[in-house]
Amino acid sequence: MKSCGVSLTTAAVAFGDEAKKMAAGKASRESEEESLSLTVEEREALGGMDSRLFGFVRLHEDGARTKTLLGKAVHCYESLILKAEGKVDSDFFCQLGHFNLLLEDYSKALSAYQRYYSLQADYWKNASFLYGLGLVYFYYNAFHWAIKAFQDVLYVDPSFCRAKEIHLRLGLMFKVNTDYKSSLKHFQLALIDCNPCTLSSAEIQFHIAHLYETQRKYHSAKEAYEQLLQMENLPAQVKATVLQQLGWMHHNMDLVGDNATKESFAIQYLQKSLEADPNSGQSWYFLGRCYSSIGKVQDAFISYRQSIDKSEASADTWCSIGVLYQQQNQPMDALQAYICAVQLDHGHAAAWMDLGTLYESCNQPQDAIKCYLNAARSKRCSNTSTLAARIKFLQAQLCNLPQSSLQNKTKLLPSIEEAWSLPIPAELTSRQGAMNTAQQNGSDSWNGGQSLSHHPVQQVYSLCLTPQKLQHLEQLRANRDNLNPAQKHQLEQLESQFVLMQQMRHKEVARGLHKSQSSCLSGPNEEQPLFSTGSAQYHQATSTGIKKSNEHLTLPSNSVPQRDADSHLSSHTATSGGQQGIIFTKESKSSKNRSLVPETSRHTGDTSNGCADVKGLTNHVHQLIADAVSSPNHGDSPDLLIADNPQLSALLIGKANDNVGTGTCDKVNSIHVAVHTKTDHSVASSPSSAISTATPSPKSTEQTSINSVTSLNSPHGGLHTVNGEGLENSQSSTKVDLPLVSHRSTSQIIPSMSVSICPSSTEVLKACRNLGKNGLSSSCILLDKCPPPRPPTSPYPPLPKDKLNPPTPSIYLENKRDAFFPPLHQFCTNPKNPVTVIRGLAGALKLDLGLFSTKTLVEANNEHIVEVRTQLLQPADENWDPTGTKKIWRCESNRSHTTIAKYAQYQASSFQESLREENEKRTQHKDHSDNESTSSENSGRRRKGPFKTIKFGTNIDLSDNKKWKLQLHELTKLPAFARVVSAGNLLSHVGHTILGMNTVQLYMKVPGSRTPGHQENNNFCSVNINIGPGDCEWFVVPEDYWGVLNDFCEKNNLNFLMSSWWPNLEDLYEANVPVYRFIQRPGDLVWINAGTVHWVQAVGWCNNIAWNVGPLTACQYKLAVERYEWNKLKSVKSPVPMVHLSWNMARNIKVSDPKLFEMIKYCLLKILKQCQTLREALVAAGKEIIWHGRTNDEPAHYCSICEVEVFNLLFVTNESNTQKTYIVHCQDCARKTSRSLENFVVLEQYKMEDLIQVYDQFTLALSLSSSS
Ligand SMILES: [Zn+2]
Repeated sequence: MKSCGVSLTTAAVAFGDEAKKMAAGKASRESEEESLSLTVEEREALGGMDSRLFGFVRLHEDGARTKTLLGKAVHCYESLILKAEGKVDSDFFCQLGHFNLLLEDYSKALSAYQRYYSLQADYWKNASFLYGLGLVYFYYNAFHWAIKAFQDVLYVDPSFCRAKEIHLRLGLMFKVNTDYKSSLKHFQLALIDCNPCTLSSAEIQFHIAHLYETQRKYHSAKEAYEQLLQMENLPAQVKATVLQQLGWMHHNMDLVGDNATKESFAIQYLQKSLEADPNSGQSWYFLGRCYSSIGKVQDAFISYRQSIDKSEASADTWCSIGVLYQQQNQPMDALQAYICAVQLDHGHAAAWMDLGTLYESCNQPQDAIKCYLNAARSKRCSNTSTLAARIKFLQAQLCNLPQSSLQNKTKLLPSIEEAWSLPIPAELTSRQGAMNTAQQNGSDSWNGGQSLSHHPVQQVYSLCLTPQKLQHLEQLRANRDNLNPAQKHQLEQLESQFVLMQQMRHKEVARGLHKSQSSCLSGPNEEQPLFSTGSAQYHQATSTGIKKSNEHLTLPSNSVPQRDADSHLSSHTATSGGQQGIIFTKESKSSKNRSLVPETSRHTGDTSNGCADVKGLTNHVHQLIADAVSSPNHGDSPDLLIADNPQLSALLIGKANDNVGTGTCDKVNSIHVAVHTKTDHSVASSPSSAISTATPSPKSTEQTSINSVTSLNSPHGGLHTVNGEGLENSQSSTKVDLPLVSHRSTSQIIPSMSVSICPSSTEVLKACRNLGKNGLSSSCILLDKCPPPRPPTSPYPPLPKDKLNPPTPSIYLENKRDAFFPPLHQFCTNPKNPVTVIRGLAGALKLDLGLFSTKTLVEANNEHIVEVRTQLLQPADENWDPTGTKKIWRCESNRSHTTIAKYAQYQASSFQESLREENEKRTQHKDHSDNESTSSENSGRRRKGPFKTIKFGTNIDLSDNKKWKLQLHELTKLPAFARVVSAGNLLSHVGHTILGMNTVQLYMKVPGSRTPGHQENNNFCSVNINIGPGDCEWFVVPEDYWGVLNDFCEKNNLNFLMSSWWPNLEDLYEANVPVYRFIQRPGDLVWINAGTVHWVQAVGWCNNIAWNVGPLTACQYKLAVERYEWNKLKSVKSPVPMVHLSWNMARNIKVSDPKLFEMIKYCLLKILKQCQTLREALVAAGKEIIWHGRTNDEPAHYCSICEVEVFNLLFVTNESNTQKTYIVHCQDCARKTSRSLENFVVLEQYKMEDLIQVYDQFTLALSLSSSS
């Protein structure tokens, strides 16, 4: 057994003692207990076992003994708990949780951990408990909770021995949640750590490369993949996957040269991939796609055939085969292939759409509509709006046609119902069968792609007029002369089908292929409702919840009869979530996982070929297989976790791991079905019933330019679907009906305490000396551990609805005296006013705003750099997805750069263009901006877009005093509390520049330019002046509601701190969140108070200037420190170095507010202890500490790896020390790369005596004035 590498002293429960306690308490039952009791050796062995061993214990091979021991321990604990009627020490439950976790009995582990959680108030101090809990949540795909638990571990114990494993899993979960920034950060943190974890560094690097690909950073991805290929001893599976990705990326993207070159690169890569792993059905499939796109039809067919042989029935492959047939003008064969695809995956939107276009091209609009409706129902349908328009159009066309014209037509293809009711022949669903067929048919059947009858599906269809139908046909024929019109029509239909059938049969007879006849005749009765509701299935799924879905996973689907699969249809089509469902065999599942990659993203590139006209109806295969990467359960099986285990490499393909590796995504989807089917259920009717519910619009004027042939050549995929998929996954995972532990809201970070509690430095240091001997962990040895920070819960009681639109605190200034009137400062910084608008400030102070006008800016520094955000022009207070179908929170914008001169040009031309449009419209409105907002509010309720794109010039740095002398000087006219630099401004005490915070930033806007929702860095206050000429609209939510907004962000898969989001006002209203809303006119100053959440949109053309201010108040300091800690928990850098700042405050400022004083003193105390403890531990370990000192304006230091602030003791690599580049690490990151710090030198910046002196001399000032 591998040891954790760290002594298991802190958390481990002394098992023997516990057992003894128990035994003593229940003396009467001693005899019974003896039979269950554990020997001393066993207790010793168990004493060191907790969650940290998860993944590092073998249970199956030589670890059988461990397994037995754990089993015995669980049994023993359980019976003891039972006897004590649950009244046992809480640690008992924790340990029981650990044992069950190690035995991979997750549900028992969860319930034991939950008991511990409910009994142990300071559970958060127990890192191995949090880690175990996180692993269990991870197993159940409850990513939301797993992330929280893992982040807590790192917060309470940054040197936790499984930090690497945690970072890896956080990276995987954030990847699934589409929080790519966080994902990358955690993967990188995992990568630098030299401790063991469940993935090799090659695999972690693969994930990083793939992360770039997912973000469409194709060149970075290519580079990273190629770098991986250079790696020595790259495991074959990783190599195969990397090559596969490279090949597919080259096929989709224009990474090299012209079309022919890129396809030849793609083919080469895929061929190399197949050399590394000849059994990858996925690679064969991709190869087929490449051949198909360069017109090598034969090669394409051969590759698809190989793919089916290797990976079994794949809907994507069949769909592509269908495309190929359709291109070869073989509609019947195409039909068969598409039917195969949709039968394998009922939610395969692309196949349904392709089938629809096929029917359209064969003049069977009714069938086409049914297919489109099925496509539209799929959640993987990326272009529902186009599809809806097409459906509407076809319906309208149908209505306008005389009934007879349709009925009399001879159908080229069987109807969808007829086609559907054909069973999927066994040959297709089993690999063996397919092989047999291939052998029987000989390879020639795949060669030309011309002759089709060898196609297994073909054989089936061609024989299929059911006996019932044949009988009916005979009857109708016999009474040919006495039929009513409907019957005549029926007869015609049947006859044409019969002819078709005959033709097919002749072909087959000629080839002597009768064997599938029987399967056809025994197929489902045509009278059977096509899309049965499957309610039994649904109830089963819902009632048994997760367990049921797990069963689904392990069902060897070979044994699932086709009809069973059919009964799933309704739920599948309804939710379209079940593509992973039952019908996949074990092997096909592993082939899904093999890709390790969200299939969706592989197709994103196809957008570039997209043809605008046919956006909706494309032939592209949307392989929206649930993200294989989203099943990071790889690690769960212990036998995979031994570093040198050959099976490790199999991780990447996921096949080694039957019990868990197959899948998170499967589970997610199954759960999804179970949870969501209810609402969608009624939709899952037959295609025919669906059509009757849709209202045909007779006077549809939609364009008719959709051309089925063109659409074949316009593959199309979308990144939205990637996001959508990720969203679904994690949403459903949070919906898992686990008895989830909810985190209690915990105490503040800075406890309110009286000054007298603060001991003198001598006492502090004496206490530290004793603690320092234990070890080197810095954060555990503080005088008291702080619980992990939590966002505030929604204020209680909730505000009544009529209080949700409060008036904005506003102050009107008449003259300079008003502006300098002291109560103004107090009003602004009063925590009761989340925002204050100081109206007419510029006028009152006679500020020359012209200095910031675009004209002056261009004259002053026309080449100055401007960051540009390309955004969608949205209605004033709404945020829609790019297609305009639904309101969303996510509001992404692309970043680029330009110059002031160029942006100025854009700003001016945008204004002129709008004037021209205005003139053309000749509206009555005088005020342009008013017009703007009212007109957009009235336009269209249901659907918005397409949206114009606009450019927002943002974060223009005006820090350079030489370049912007006049401008910056003008701002010194402001009252002190609002100035960029002042003695009473905390940010002026940092001692160095924090761009945009204690320097000025400029914003250049056109109407619609958006600053998404945020709190300021470290919750500082901000000052914003509108230069004009246009207005800005502000939305403001008080600080104590940020937890509610944080929840909304999480629900929407957004990172509150890092993502761009635009709150949906309706959501906020629902949640009783008050929103201040106001217009900022030119010359108005907006004061955002500490922690206030806000988002801003330009109404007209205008420039703004802004910076941050830190008033010297208890509220500001507290919120800044709280955010500092929250950032640490969330692995986000704090732009304000609060430790450094606190020491500077103690040196420079006299504080008279007792509350503020206490908080600062408390923080200093904590830091002092940390410094002393760390110092002594290093000395005790024989590590030399080199005096380095500080220069005057030296900025605060941050860890170059994890970005936490590093104070006083800097860990610098030997190399960077000799080069004097001083790349700083925190202690924890240094230890991750070099356990005993041999590669590092420790530099000291302050003498302890100096810090002690500062601490002792910092006393409460008696003066009433708070600033120096
Ligand atoms: Zn670090």
